[in-house]
Amino acid sequence: MKAMLLNNICHLDENKNPLIEANLPDPVPGNNEILVKVSACGVCHTELDEIEGRTPPSHFPIVLGHEVVGRVKQTGKEAHRFQIGERVGIGWIYSACGKCKFCLQQNENLCENFKATGRDANGGYAEYTVVPEDFAHKIPDLFSDLEAAPLLCAGAIGYRSLRLTHIENGQTLGLTGFGASAHLVLKMTLHKYPECKVFVFARSQKERDFAKELGAVWAGDTEETSPEKLDCIIDTTPVWKPIVEALKNLKSGGRLVINAIRKEDIDKEYLLKLNYPTHLWLEKEIKSVANVARRDISEFLELAAEIPIKPEVQEFTLEEANRALVELREQKIRGAKVLKIYA
Ligand SMILES: [Zn+2]
Ligand SMILES: [Zn+2]
Repeated sequence: MKAMLLNNICHLDENKNPLIEANLPDPVPGNNEILVKVSACGVCHTELDEIEGRTPPSHFPIVLGHEVVGRVKQTGKEAHRFQIGERVGIGWIYSACGKCKFCLQQNENLCENFKATGRDANGGYAEYTVVPEDFAHKIPDLFSDLEAAPLLCAGAIGYRSLRLTHIENGQTLGLTGFGASAHLVLKMTLHKYPECKVFVFARSQKERDFAKELGAVWAGDTEETSPEKLDCIIDTTPVWKPIVEALKNLKSGGRLVINAIRKEDIDKEYLLKLNYPTHLWLEKEIKSVANVARRDISEFLELAAEIPIKPEVQEFTLEEANRALVELREQKIRGAKVLKIYA
């Protein structure tokens, strides 16, 4: 099969072609695995983190890609969940042990043996891939292969953040930062909890206007005080200032959920403004979001079909994967970038 391979960590500034075109033997599904003929694979920021070593692959060479849509081509001896030809999706979670406390609580994203698609096992920048059948997802008919691919990642993580806030209908939610993932969270909140009020904190006027267009009741700058105290807030920014500023807007017992893999150090000194009575007293909580569990992906796909949420996509061929990554790095964003691998 054709595949795009990453052989080592490198910097995109110095090497605009980190992935090498290669011909590999077709993978063979193990007992509980399925072989998937890939039709589309989304290109995600996390791939940049893998290539540049911030989330390094556990071995080389590796096939990247964790927003995979395709059809079941072959099933392992003990894999009975899907029929040959059935459409499936594969997200960031590739496998987990299935036995530990976290796995038994459906928080397999925290399993010590958590493996990520395209980082610890070959992913979707290829014509074929294999995955344990329990970690593949049915995809609602509403979406084309290309539309479904990007939904497998940012949407599912946004959905998990929203779940972790423990929000209930009628409560108030703050969103600090208003990028792609926050738009999705705003849409799913208003659909799932129609009586909730959403308040958005964003630096640019354009983002604030857009938030109001999408149904936010209020939008202000990062350090503003919201007109009412908030039950919960989700932070999707890469820095520290929004964390400190958000905490002052929480109600007693309120919860701040941080949806970021890593925070940048550029404004770390802002944390010194943390004032215990203003920001933390009265049982305020802070929680981070790590990876996704299977139910986040499958429940989000159902919700996305119900709302519906359909992403704008920009197509590339498999061989154009390097160009798609460089454009993503340079923030040339015209919809979610997706590799179209089979028609
Ligand atoms: Zn991703
Ligand atoms: Zn486990």
